Amino acid sequence: MELQPSEVTSVLKKEIESFQAGSSTAKVGQVLQVGDGVARVYGLDDCMMSELIEFTGGAMGMALNLEEDNVGCVLLGDAASVREGDTVKSTGRIISVPTGDQLLGRVVDALGNPLDGKGPLNTTDDDLRPIEQDAPSVVEREPVSEPMATGLKAIDAMIPVGRGQRELMIGDRQTGKTAIAIDAIINQKSTGGGDPNNDEQVLCVYVAVGQKQSTVVDVQRKLDEAGASPYTIIVNASASEEAAMQFIAPYSGTAMAERYRDAGRHVLVIYDDLTKQAYAYRQVMLLLRRPPGREAYPGDVFNLHSRLLERSAKVAQDAPEINPAKYSKGGGSITSLPIIETQEGDVSAYIPTNVISITDGQIFLEADLFYSGVRPAVNVGISVSRVGGAAQTPAMKKVAGGLRINLAQYRELEAFAQFGSDLDAATQQALNRGARLVELLKQGQYLPLENADQIVSIYAGTSGRLDDLDTAKVSDFAEGFIDYMKANHADTMTELNGWKTKWSDDYEKLVGDACDTFKSQFVG
Ligand code: ATP
Ligand code: MG
Repeated sequence: MELQPSEVTSVLKKEIESFQAGSSTAKVGQVLQVGDGVARVYGLDDCMMSELIEFTGGAMGMALNLEEDNVGCVLLGDAASVREGDTVKSTGRIISVPTGDQLLGRVVDALGNPLDGKGPLNTTDDDLRPIEQDAPSVVEREPVSEPMATGLKAIDAMIPVGRGQRELMIGDRQTGKTAIAIDAIINQKSTGGGDPNNDEQVLCVYVAVGQKQSTVVDVQRKLDEAGASPYTIIVNASASEEAAMQFIAPYSGTAMAERYRDAGRHVLVIYDDLTKQAYAYRQVMLLLRRPPGREAYPGDVFNLHSRLLERSAKVAQDAPEINPAKYSKGGGSITSLPIIETQEGDVSAYIPTNVISITDGQIFLEADLFYSGVRPAVNVGISVSRVGGAAQTPAMKKVAGGLRINLAQYRELEAFAQFGSDLDAATQQALNRGARLVELLKQGQYLPLENADQIVSIYAGTSGRLDDLDTAKVSDFAEGFIDYMKANHADTMTELNGWKTKWSDDYEKLVGDACDTFKSQFVG
């Protein structure tokens, strides 16, 4: 189609006529109805989804339901000050939170207001980022290739997590879910010495949703004690806060993480937990009269979690060439460890199945194991990591290769052994080995281990050197052996900590011999 110049000028003329410098048309409406933390507003025809809405009393709201003749929004902040008939203004902005280095070491709420009494954040308007953002596109991504070590033997050896991966932690209440998350944060200290300005340091964001205040205080104290606070942001939307705050907190935390990802840094984000976020979302949506679906959740509850978790990714090294506006540097990543609480181990409920299908694997924690003293209570049989294998260090991969099979065999035979009938030598041997491996994989809280420590202690078990040891002594032995290796073979340990180190015959001989020597001292 040919465009006539006269047509273009007429359009331009019309535009100029209606343009008046400096004037803006504020979109103003009225509150129709308010209650239970939600409001219906009349008159905001051009309102966007998730737009921030300002009420006269100073309270804020977020538009969630765009209907033909009204807008349903949730109230954030001082909800009690909103009355029917009040004037409201739409701001034309999506809800934004402050981001940047000022937040490290701080505890903030879902809108980025400090909660820790350490004074204002002093961020500028340039630091604001909208809480909802598009996930990196296919071309901007790269496969997971670097390890995100948790420091826990049971996880790093068998269910390895890589940078950019989304690994679900799922289990009943009080099965050590939060404990694993905290250990993972503490373990990141080994990446950059805990110095947030070191580019190697993995930064962490812990998003607490619907937790007791006391739990969050506990987490904060533990991170402080372990020296993990300087590189960690805590976003807290506790159980006592409005449902809307609990529902947006994970998005806020992700926006804070994205600031670093776009600058080429690595970030670990914990969502503790998404079950409570889904509850909050359901509550808000029922109040806004969205039609309830399965388990009374609104129809888009899958999207609630998928659009959140899709934002965790490994960004390609050449992303700045693809999208210079977004990535100042490529190669950054967001790894997420979302947590889901199950009821009686039921992983087939609505929210658990949704999140299982979105994530790249799950760590399943079992109450029975937890109570029988196997902690972390990871059920190895049904836990998987779909992409993390590519990120495991070659040495760890080799040494831990047989672990999963050995443990699976053990669990199977264990049931038989209870009959107490005569067992053949091979069965007895598998049982022996299994019992010691289970012992070996137990690990206390706040004691994350380095890669080399894990490799040598697991090698002691998988090579059969613990088979004739009393099970009660296995953990002492493993601890002692790590110390022995550090004292006598420090160079080897440093090498084994490397990401690229392969498990050669030389290492096998050296570590095996060292283990024999240590064993003779230990037993003798
Ligand atoms: P909730 O459902 O209440 O959030 P949770 O699944 O997050 O619980 P945690 O709070 O992490 O569980 O742990 C429950 C209890 O078990 C805590 O008292 C914690 O100290 C203890 N615990 C967790 N992991 C270990 C471990 N590896 N060794 C010893 N104790 C542990
Ligand atoms: Mg917990």
